[in-house]
Parts: sequence; C-alpha cells; structure tokens
Amino acid sequence: MKLICIGRNYAEHIDELQNERPREPIIFIKPDSSILPKGQDFYIPEFSKNVHYEVEVLVKIKKVGKHISKKFAPTYYDEIGLGIDFTARDLQADLKSKGLPWEKAKGFDGAAVIGKWISKDMYENLDKLKFSLLKNGENVQNGDTSLMLWKIDELISYVSTYFMLKKGDILFTGTPAGVGKVSPNDYLSGTLEGEKMFAINIK
Ligand code: ZN
Repeated sequence: MKLICIGRNYAEHIDELQNERPREPIIFIKPDSSILPKGQDFYIPEFSKNVHYEVEVLVKIKKVGKHISKKFAPTYYDEIGLGIDFTARDLQADLKSKGLPWEKAKGFDGAAVIGKWISKDMYENLDKLKFSLLKNGENVQNGDTSLMLWKIDELISYVSTYFMLKKGDILFTGTPAGVGKVSPNDYLSGTLEGEKMFAINIK
C-alpha cells in the first residue's frame, strides 16, 4: 500500500513557509515503511536537526480505482482519520533548493503517524471537519477542512488520474498553518471534531 500526500493545500500554511500557491495539487508519496507502528514512540532521526509535525486529515481508500470522477469519489472511501506527516524541514529545504525530490525528508522510517479510523457516516459534512494538534497540552495547529484549497473528493479524482488507487491506500490531505519543530520529550496528541485520534511521545 502507499501513502499519497498532498502538499500546500491550506493557504495560511503556504504563506508561513513562503511557498508559491500551486495551480494544481502537489502530490508526493511516502512508502509504507514510513508508517510509525502503533503504540511506538517517534525517534527524531539523527540526520535532521529540524523535524516538523504536520497534522492532517486522512482518508482510507477501500477499493481499486483509476480516473475517478469527483462525483463517484465518495464511493471509494468509508473511513476518515487523523495523522502526522513528519517532515525533516532542514533536509527538505536543502533538496528543494537544488530542485531534487523530497523523499528523504518525508519518507523516512516513522515519518507517518496514523491514528484511529472513524466511519465517515459519523460526520455531517466532511468539508467542515475541525481538527487540532496539541503539543505538551498546548494547541499548536487548528485546521478546518472547509479551508482546503482542494477538498477530499477533488483530491481523490486528481490523484487517481496519475496513480491507481488500491484498497488500503491512505490519502494525507495536507496541513494547516502552525507547523513547528519537535524536541525530545514532547508529547503530541491530535483531535478530530473533539475526539482524540492519536497520542505520541517524541524521543
Ligand atoms: Zn504534509
């Protein structure tokens, strides 16, 4: 399975990293080996001095699909989650400046946190989901899917024109503003519509 991630999907986050606003979604892939095993602590890798958290709403794909139209996109997922797209920002900045792929900065072991899954039927409107990340009990990121430049169904349609979606693939829908560095002994927890979705210790 693969993790398909969207970059720059919230205007305020684009501004905080002084990136250009994209004309179409930015896609990258994390390998399945980047998934942090459930219940494990996150160890800051020795090759980075600036690992950032990015809290994101997740969508789990439930069947194979290609060239999916926006209208039929909802039939390809039943479950919504919340996770973290850990990013070695120093490495990413260096690779970006050289025009090289970001994979090392985004796809390293443990760089994908996946919380619990909730049936999409539990939510009235997937385009109005509020989510937050707390660091040591303090609110550091607040998101609302209504602020996405491209919404879930548009993303599924767009992504599936390039990559065949398979059962179990997970879509990371992009992070809102407020990304920041993690340090040893930090404690991160994420909530979606007020419900705790994951908690993780940083080492
Ligand atoms: Zn991200």
